[in-house]
Amino acid sequence: MATLEDKLGPTLGKRAANALEKAFGFTTVRDLLTHYPRRLDDRGALTDISSLTLGEHATVLARVQTAREARYRVKGTGRQATRTEVVITDGRRDISVTFFNQQWRAGALRPGVVAFFSGKVGLFNGRRQLVQPLFEVLDSGRGAADLDAVEVEAGETKRFWPIYPATAAMSSQQVARCVETALAVLDEVPDPLPAEVRRARDVVGYDEALRLLHQPPGPVEFERARDRLRFDEAFVLQTVLAQRRSLARTLAAVPRPRRPGALADRFDERLPFELTSGQRDIGDVVAGDLARTYPMQRLLQGEVGSGKTVVALRAMLQVVDAGGQAALLAPTEVLALQHHRAIMAMLGPLAEAGMLTGEDAGTRVALLTGSAGAAQRRTAMLDIASGSAGIVVGTHALLQEKVQFAELGLVVVDEQHRFGVEQRAALTAKAGFTPPHVLVMTATPIPRTVAMTVFGDLDVSTLRELPAGRSQVQTTVVPAEQPAWLERGWQRVREEAAAGHQTYVVCPRIGGEPESAMEEPVADESYQPRRPPVAVADVAADLVAGPLGDLRVYVLHGRMPADEKDDVMRRFAAGDIDVLVSTTVIEVGVDVANASVMVVMDADRFGVSSLHQLRGRVGRGSVPGLCLLVTEAPTGSPSRERLDAVASTSDGFELSQLDLETRREGDVLGALQSGRRSSLKLLSVVRDGDLIARAREVAEQLVSVDPLLDRHPLLAAEVARMLSEEQAGYLEMS
Ligand code: ADP
Ligand code: MG
Repeated sequence: MATLEDKLGPTLGKRAANALEKAFGFTTVRDLLTHYPRRLDDRGALTDISSLTLGEHATVLARVQTAREARYRVKGTGRQATRTEVVITDGRRDISVTFFNQQWRAGALRPGVVAFFSGKVGLFNGRRQLVQPLFEVLDSGRGAADLDAVEVEAGETKRFWPIYPATAAMSSQQVARCVETALAVLDEVPDPLPAEVRRARDVVGYDEALRLLHQPPGPVEFERARDRLRFDEAFVLQTVLAQRRSLARTLAAVPRPRRPGALADRFDERLPFELTSGQRDIGDVVAGDLARTYPMQRLLQGEVGSGKTVVALRAMLQVVDAGGQAALLAPTEVLALQHHRAIMAMLGPLAEAGMLTGEDAGTRVALLTGSAGAAQRRTAMLDIASGSAGIVVGTHALLQEKVQFAELGLVVVDEQHRFGVEQRAALTAKAGFTPPHVLVMTATPIPRTVAMTVFGDLDVSTLRELPAGRSQVQTTVVPAEQPAWLERGWQRVREEAAAGHQTYVVCPRIGGEPESAMEEPVADESYQPRRPPVAVADVAADLVAGPLGDLRVYVLHGRMPADEKDDVMRRFAAGDIDVLVSTTVIEVGVDVANASVMVVMDADRFGVSSLHQLRGRVGRGSVPGLCLLVTEAPTGSPSRERLDAVASTSDGFELSQLDLETRREGDVLGALQSGRRSSLKLLSVVRDGDLIARAREVAEQLVSVDPLLDRHPLLAAEVARMLSEEQAGYLEMS
C-alpha cells in the first residue's frame, strides 16, 4: 500500500516513474494525484474540433473519417517510406492527422474508429493538423473487425474520461493509467480539513474527493470532487493569510500616536480645501493604526486624483511628530520628483526647519533618486541618517544598503503594482529590529477577490469619492477608418491650447528601440496589429509638421536624462508646453490640473487599467477633460470592445472587474506572485469570489482560536506545503 508521500518508483515501477518525472517533474504520489484533470470527456460526445487553438497540446476524442497510406522514396537515400494520412472528425469539423513510417500502428485507425489523439496542433498547407500524435483506440466502430480487442473492452465499460494536461511524451491516457495504478494501492488519505469545517460546509471527504476526481462515474461526482478540492485551496490560502495577519499582531512596532498641536495639526489648518469624508474617515483609521504597538499593514486604494497623497502625508506628519521618519517610495523618477515637489508645496514653511523662513517645529523633506548628483546625494544621505529629514521621498535608490535611517517609523509605497514584495521587505529591514508601519497606495482599483488573495495580509481602505469640483472626463474612441474624426480631435487640441489648456499624447513606445523591446500587444486572437506601434518621436514629428504646427510640442520618455525629464515636466506644469508627447512614464500619478486632453495613440495596445489611469491625468482641476482613444482595431473585435468599455464607464472598479475577466487567470496572479499561482490549481480569482470570502471567514475564525494550528497538524502540513511552493515561485522569479 502507498501514501501520498511515497516515491513514484516503488508504486508505479521505474519506467512510468521516470517518464512522469521527465514529463512533469513529478517525484511523489502526491505530485501525480494533484495533477488534476482539466476536464471530463464524455465518450458519447466527441471533442469540439473548432475549439482547438494553434500551438496547443490537445487531447481530442474523435472519429476516423478517412485513412490513406502513401508510399514514397526519401530524397537522396532512395529508401522506401510511408506516410499515413488520417482525417478525424467531431461530426462537423475535421482535422488531419499524419504519421510517418507507422503503418503498423496507424493501421488500427480505420474509418469509423473512435480514438483519443494527443498531440500538438500545427498548420500544414493552411490546414490544421496533428503530427505523430499519441493515440488510443476506444471504439472500433460499428461492424469493423477489431484487432485491439483488449483496449476496446476497457474503453467500452468507461464512458467518462478525465483529460489531463499532457506533453508530447506523455499523453492524457498514459497519465490516467498511472493515476489508476497509484489510486489502486493508495491507503485511505487522512483529511486535512478540520472536522467542524467539513461538517459546516457539507463537503465530501478528502480521500473520496481525490478518487472521485480521477475516476468519476459521471460529471456530477466530478464537480463535487472539484468543489471540495477548490475549497481546500481557498481555505489553506486564507489560513496562511490569517496566520500572517495574526503573526503581524505579535510583532512589536513603535507606536506613533497623534500629538495635538504639532505638525500634523498645523498642516490640517493650512490645507486650502476640506478633506472629503473618505479622506477623513480613512485618516482616522490610519491614525489609530499608527498608535498601536504592532505594525500597520494597510492598502489604500482610490482612483487617480481621489486624494491618497494627502492621506499619506497626514500619516507621515503624525509619525514625524512622534519622533519617527517616514519614507515615500515611488516607482519612477518622474513620480518621485513630483511627489517631492507636491509635498514641499503642501507643507510650505512646515518643511523648512532650520531655515530663516521656516517654522522651528517644522521638518525637512529629503529627495533621493538614482540620478541625483554626488553632492546632493551626500546631503540627502546625511539628512536621512541624522534624522533631520523627517520625510524622505525616493525611488529604488532608497533601498540601497548605504542608505541609513535614524528612526524609520513609516514606509509609504506608491503604486504597489510596480513594487515587489521583496522590495517592500528590503525597506522594512531598514527600520532595524522593530518593523515600521506600512501604507501601500494604489490607483488601480483591485477587485475584491484579488485583494483577498494577493494582498490578503493587508487591511484594505478605499477612497470612493473624488474631491468636490472635479470635472468629468468625456472619453471617445477614434477609429482609424474615420480620418475626419482624428482631424477633429487635433482641432480640439488646438482649441484647448488657445483657451490656455494642455494636452498629453501617449504612444506605446519611444522609437529607435530594437523590436524585441517593444511592448507586447495585449492578447486578442481576432485582431493582430500588422505594424509596430507608433513611436513618440515619429508622432511628435508628424504633429509638428502637420496639425499642431503652431503649438509648443515637446517629448518625454524614460530614456531621457533625469534632469531633462524634470525640466520638461516642470515646464509642462508651468504651462510653457502645450502638447506633451510621451510614453506611459506619465501614467502613474502625474498631476497637472491645467491639462484637459488625453490622446492615446494605438490605444488597443494598452490594458484597460492603463487606459483608465491615463484618462485620470486630465479633468484634474475645474477644466472638463477629454480623452481620445485612437485605434485601428476593427469594430466588434475584442480589442475594440475593450476600448468601448473604457469609454462607456468611468467607474474604476467596474473596469478592474472587466480587466480581470478579459485576462487569463495565470496572468492575474502571475504578474503579482508567481508562487501563489502554482499552488492554486482549481481556484479562480475571477469566478470564485464568494468561495474565497467564505473560506476567509472560516480561516479567520479557526486561526483566532488556534493561531499556530497546534490542534490541526494535517492542516498545518498543508499550510507549510503551500508556503514552500510560494517560496519556490519567488526563487524562480528572481
Ligand atoms: P491621488 O494621489 O489619489 O492621485 P492626490 O492626493 O495627488 O490624489 O490629489 C490629487 C489632487 O487633488 C491634488 O492636487 C490634491 O491637492 C487635490 N486634493 C486632494 N484632496 C482634496 C480635497 N479634499 N479637496 C480638493 N482637492 C483635493
Ligand atoms: Mg498620487
